[in-house]
Amino acid sequence: MDSWGEEKHEECGVAGIASKKGDKIAPLLYRSMMALQHRGQDAAGLTVFNGKLETRKGLGFVNDIFKPEDMEVGGSIGIGHTRYPTSGRITIAEVQPFIYQNIAIAHNGHIANGDSLREELKEQGFEFSSTADSEVLAMLIAQKKGILNGVRNLMDKVDGAFSITALVDGKLVAFRDKHAIRPMVYGENEEYVAFASESVALDVNDIPYQGEIRGGEVVVWDGKLVRSRLQEGTVRHCMFEYVYFARPDSIQNSVPVFEVRKRLGEQLAREHPVEADVVIPVPDTSRTAAEVFARAVGIPLEEGLIKNRYIARTFIMSTPEKRRDAVRVKLNPIRKVIEGKRIVLIDDSIVRGTTLREIVKLVHGAGAREVHVRITCPPLRAPCFYGIDMKTYDELIAHNKSIPQIEKFLGVDSLGYLSIDGLKKAIGLPVCTGCLDEEYVTPVAKKLAKAKKDEKLGCG
Ligand code: SF4
Repeated sequence: MDSWGEEKHEECGVAGIASKKGDKIAPLLYRSMMALQHRGQDAAGLTVFNGKLETRKGLGFVNDIFKPEDMEVGGSIGIGHTRYPTSGRITIAEVQPFIYQNIAIAHNGHIANGDSLREELKEQGFEFSSTADSEVLAMLIAQKKGILNGVRNLMDKVDGAFSITALVDGKLVAFRDKHAIRPMVYGENEEYVAFASESVALDVNDIPYQGEIRGGEVVVWDGKLVRSRLQEGTVRHCMFEYVYFARPDSIQNSVPVFEVRKRLGEQLAREHPVEADVVIPVPDTSRTAAEVFARAVGIPLEEGLIKNRYIARTFIMSTPEKRRDAVRVKLNPIRKVIEGKRIVLIDDSIVRGTTLREIVKLVHGAGAREVHVRITCPPLRAPCFYGIDMKTYDELIAHNKSIPQIEKFLGVDSLGYLSIDGLKKAIGLPVCTGCLDEEYVTPVAKKLAKAKKDEKLGCG
């Protein structure tokens, strides 16, 4: 299900581009941010360096924020950001890029020890102007003299996931945490050097994808590209990028997302075949996997649920009525495809289960004889501390419910989740599975998970 559904959000898309010939970079940043719009629709901003840092930013869609005159701003290096708020509504002060002294920073991820770092910095006399993690990150860079020392200081102190593009001392900088949790690709041709959360942000500017920023690596563009590995760690890419977030036409960690989605469908068919008449993808993310699943089990695929493409804003769905309305406005079933048939719905993941339950009701309402659900992600059982908006155990239906209980809640005849082994096999890379099995790769996330559990049990 896509972002309109269950409010599972990625915290941001980032880009950084330099023109080797001194051309204005703002129009390219704009196009990259358009390509990363799916990673954040609440706000966007860009900062260029033209002797000084100049920023344009606003709330809403990229398309609505920037005016033609914003593209005229001079500067041949710059960074851009699209974002979702991590909690509540955001103010313009929290929209990135964030500026601190001579540093502009665009951050994708989440700092698990952000609060304690903030306190430490306050004790050292740093004054904060926002609640944004990016301000903490910029200050950690500013604490040391020299870009590499500043970034090393940040890497040494921060627990969590960060993929960052920055302008520091008039240079374009990109780096990634040592576990390479959040993505960061690199592209280059004769005219440009670029870094971004996904390769689609390079494609849109015809800058060829050249590879990845490695975990613990920092790259500085100063007329030439200088790459330095400051830290090494166990690599754990976020599995959710492949399952749900990234665009299917993106490459991440040298693996095309589209290929992974096909393998997810193949593996799901192997693990949970079903006798039925029609396979229907829940639009849009699961479509690729659904096609492969249908072929593998020998059942025709039909587009039985049609999505209204013109409703892009995320709904605030605090009540069951609002959630039902959101599904009804967004999706319409095709009765002719569904009536009297045994249906297999393919979806990418289940968070609360409330939206999927409404979809199942829609399918029943259109006359389905049986409804079977197959999910390309294993059960989400634990919070994420690395930048995906699943913060508590209670919001996750699979945390304390068995498969039969979830089947009952959804009102389906059968439910099959992909296994963790199947997921790992389909992705073919070392992945983070913290939200599936609580195997968090960093110590603070482990502690936070334990604290949340104890709190839930009333032990602390
Ligand atoms: S905990 Fe889950 S959502 Fe968060 S980074 Fe790890 S795999 Fe991704």
